[in-house]
Amino acid sequence: MDKIQKFTIIHISSEVYPFSKTGGLADVAYSLAKEQSKDETLRVVIFSPFYTNLINNSSEITSTGLITHINSGSGIFEYKLCKKAMNNLTIYFLSNEYFFGRSGFYAEDGKDYEDNDLRFGTFCNACLRFIEQLKLSPNIIHCHDWQSSFAPIFMKTLYRNEYRNTKSVLTIHNLAFQGIFHRESISRLSLPETLFHVDKLEYYGKINYLKGAIIYADMVTTVSISYAEEIKTTEFGCGLDGIMSKYSFKLKGILNGIDYDVWNPEHDDLIYKAYNRAMPEDKEENKKYITGKFGLSSNLPLFGMVSRLTEQKGADIIGEAITKIDLERANFIFLGDGDNKTTKYFEDISKKHKNVTLYIGYDEALAHEIYAASDFYLMPSRFEPCGLSQMIAMRYGTIPLVRNTGGLKDSVVDVDLGGYGIVFSGYSSEALLISLQRAIKIYYRSTKAMRKTIMGLNFSWTRSAKEYIGLYKDCFGHLF
Ligand code: ADP
Repeated sequence: MDKIQKFTIIHISSEVYPFSKTGGLADVAYSLAKEQSKDETLRVVIFSPFYTNLINNSSEITSTGLITHINSGSGIFEYKLCKKAMNNLTIYFLSNEYFFGRSGFYAEDGKDYEDNDLRFGTFCNACLRFIEQLKLSPNIIHCHDWQSSFAPIFMKTLYRNEYRNTKSVLTIHNLAFQGIFHRESISRLSLPETLFHVDKLEYYGKINYLKGAIIYADMVTTVSISYAEEIKTTEFGCGLDGIMSKYSFKLKGILNGIDYDVWNPEHDDLIYKAYNRAMPEDKEENKKYITGKFGLSSNLPLFGMVSRLTEQKGADIIGEAITKIDLERANFIFLGDGDNKTTKYFEDISKKHKNVTLYIGYDEALAHEIYAASDFYLMPSRFEPCGLSQMIAMRYGTIPLVRNTGGLKDSVVDVDLGGYGIVFSGYSSEALLISLQRAIKIYYRSTKAMRKTIMGLNFSWTRSAKEYIGLYKDCFGHLF
């Protein structure tokens, strides 16, 4: 009886930490749902693909025995449902070996899978089927990015009757990725042809699923207040600024948080020496450890970065700026991956400049070590919807050096304005270089005080998770 009355929230996400992750989406899907699940009046469930070759801890995932067949315009696809219960949170994994047994999440050898519409379209369709089979009767289906944008579209078309009492929320984690496919995609997914219309899914002769979800979802959120404003402009709107402005009445910015259990320097098995705000000196031990490991001097300021190495993250201006810093003045450690051209660019820099260390790939343990060891965290993004890395860095007492855009603007205040970080404007290597020089000066002056301040800030999910609950209830006009 109790269960039936619970307000039920279902997240559909193409990644979920700690099982599958390429970036912040995985962290957010898991940590937001986990925070919500602490409220006993809520029932919280996540649906995500079972990437057979990529998923971590798969031995903990068990079969439910449920199967569904999706009869789409291009064939019949079988999905099996697996499950993992974590305290008050249940994660369901949908398995289809053909679609999700590949070596990449979305792409291979730098090229997107051509059938990504079929992969994520049938996945969302199967989620809606399983939700019915499980009789979850959700109040809210909360979708994340283009990969789950198919769900609000299906809910207002093919599943109009089944989901008439359910509201949908779309969170845009990065407007740059929109799920654009050729026109035939609509029939491949058995969606009505009438959706090929400029007021619906059509986008310059193609189909844009994110655009469709913005139109069909009951509420749209993005991951910081500043980014919610920026995406209404041509500079940041990635071609959808008109749509974002038109639907701004249902658009809200809610800043992400980070998982304080996963990111906690006091209890972190992945770092060399644990530390906290009361004994930040122990942070130095982590620096000595990592600089020793990479053959760098521990007496110089250390700049770290754990990121996709792309233009969005400022890869081009970083390369130009750091090569102008004398190797006697600072060290740099980069962990990340990017397209072949950018990776090669960073490789060349690290070969030529002894003070630059590069580790190409994805490495959770090294990421924690870098956050713990660095004096400064580099994040000079061209645009940044929210950014989690600057918040993680601050939790580890690592001073963020950021450009004032999107979520970086909302979470970091410059030290000269009474704040605790280094913030610059203008996207250029010259502006970044000036900030690097500022940071080097600060290193010899006031790092200790700034470290204490940032370690005392709160970027946990507590406040934002509540904002989402308020938003869900707004969808129903406060009926609950
Ligand atoms: P994004 O735009 O990529 O989502 P965020 O700052 O929001 O950027 O989140 C990035 C998340 O992914 C952080 O948890 C960061 O530590 C992690 N991350 C990024 N690249 C790597 C990597 N190469 N190895 C390990 N973790 C990574």
